[in-house]
Amino acid sequence: MKMQMVGLSEEQRLIWQTCREFLDEVVLPYIRQNRDREWLAPPQERTPVELLHAVDQLGLRTLGVPEKYGGIRFDAQAQTFAIIAEELARGDSGFADIVCQNWKVSVLLSACAPQHLQAEWFDRFMEDPTFLMAHALTEPRGASDRWLPYNVPEAGMHTRATYKDGYWILNGRKQFISNGYGAKLYVVYANTNPNAGIMDGTSSFLVPQGTPGFFIGSIHEKMGSRLMNNAELVFEDCRIPEDHLLVKDVALRQAGVYFRPGKILQAAKALGVGVAAFEDTVTYVQQHVQGGRPLIKHQIVAAALADMAIKLETVRAFTRYAARALDEGAEDTDQLCLMAKVYSSEAVFDICRRAMELHGGMGVMREVGIERHFRDAAIFLHMDGTNDIHRFKIIKAMFAETAGTYAGPELVTVS
Ligand SMILES: Cc1cc2nc3c(=O)[nH]c(=O)nc-3n(C[C@H](O)[C@H](O)[C@H](O)COP(=O)(O)OP(=O)(O)OC[C@H]3O[C@@H](n4cnc5c(N)ncnc54)[C@H](O)[C@@H]3O)c2cc1C
Repeated sequence: MKMQMVGLSEEQRLIWQTCREFLDEVVLPYIRQNRDREWLAPPQERTPVELLHAVDQLGLRTLGVPEKYGGIRFDAQAQTFAIIAEELARGDSGFADIVCQNWKVSVLLSACAPQHLQAEWFDRFMEDPTFLMAHALTEPRGASDRWLPYNVPEAGMHTRATYKDGYWILNGRKQFISNGYGAKLYVVYANTNPNAGIMDGTSSFLVPQGTPGFFIGSIHEKMGSRLMNNAELVFEDCRIPEDHLLVKDVALRQAGVYFRPGKILQAAKALGVGVAAFEDTVTYVQQHVQGGRPLIKHQIVAAALADMAIKLETVRAFTRYAARALDEGAEDTDQLCLMAKVYSSEAVFDICRRAMELHGGMGVMREVGIERHFRDAAIFLHMDGTNDIHRFKIIKAMFAETAGTYAGPELVTVS
């Protein structure tokens, strides 16, 4: 039995094995053959459509969709997500982001969307391998305020939704949205009560691609995860049918169903990037000769590899532990999921830095490609909320009576 299979159920072992083969036989050869795609293809054409079809055939594109709409039910959803996400990201971080974003939005819709919308949209999603979904929270100003959350009216969302004659009218702008260009369905958050704090004045809406008044602004060019696009969304008197309201006013209170597995996915994807960097480095140090022997025979190099391997195993153990706590409904999963994301992203960033150093000058050249893992690893420090904000949230969750009650200007001094 392989080390990575320890503690997994029979079903999960099979999934892990299947994903591993899929990565080695389909995804990695594709990425090697298309290694310049991330730079040469314009962001609008960068999505690896062939891989979306392949992942769909394995049934991995539509995880999170309820069984009654054709999805797969897992006894331990977060743990299974973590196993698969790690493998997908071992192939390519951007590709993993594209797919995982669909899972997260599916989980959110299955928890919040009325049945008629689930029936309509999950049907379309299941039928079309290129169907992508997106989740639009971040705006040009105040993104971290929403994560904290800074629950006062002046920190509310700038995107506004007002009700008129059977429609919600959306006005505002979102940025950095994963799958933002080309998604066929968006969950969009907007302010529906400017007098309330963000937790009681924010609603969520389902916005199909092509809704009048909804445009794509610029597509951001980022340093890593480049196969996935991040775009600006613009809403100008965008009319949303009344029944496309998902959650009125308290949308962020219900978003935990999305945020918690989201953190596990971030931790697992970062882990996959770290594994890829480690595997590539192991190959290099066994082939590259310096001082009359392969690099791996130099003790300082071996010690560096050992440190990388220890970190990877620690990240995997911690991520799976947090996922298990979530699956088992433990009380304090908020802090645990946040910890897993912070720990994994920082450990993997360090692993990728070491991987680059062990390649010498080649580490920063595109010929070898180890620098791609470093660029990908950097993305996780910022994505899904910054690590500093998550640190703050961990302490708020652990010490709810003191740190956790702070919301707004500091009025109370703790004695
Ligand atoms: C690759 C990628 C994909 C993303 N995908 C999505 C997506 O699909 N949907 C979506 O809605 N968003 C998405 N985001 C947005 C992401 O969640 C935000 O970038 C993140 O929340 C940080 O917000 P910001 O960039 O506006 O930084 P800011 O909020 O401007 O923060 C800037 C700095 O100030 C610090 N800071 C802010 N407030 C405080 C405070 N009160 N105390 C101490 N320090 C503070 C932060 O830690 C950070 O270091 C994505 C981002 C990236 C990079």
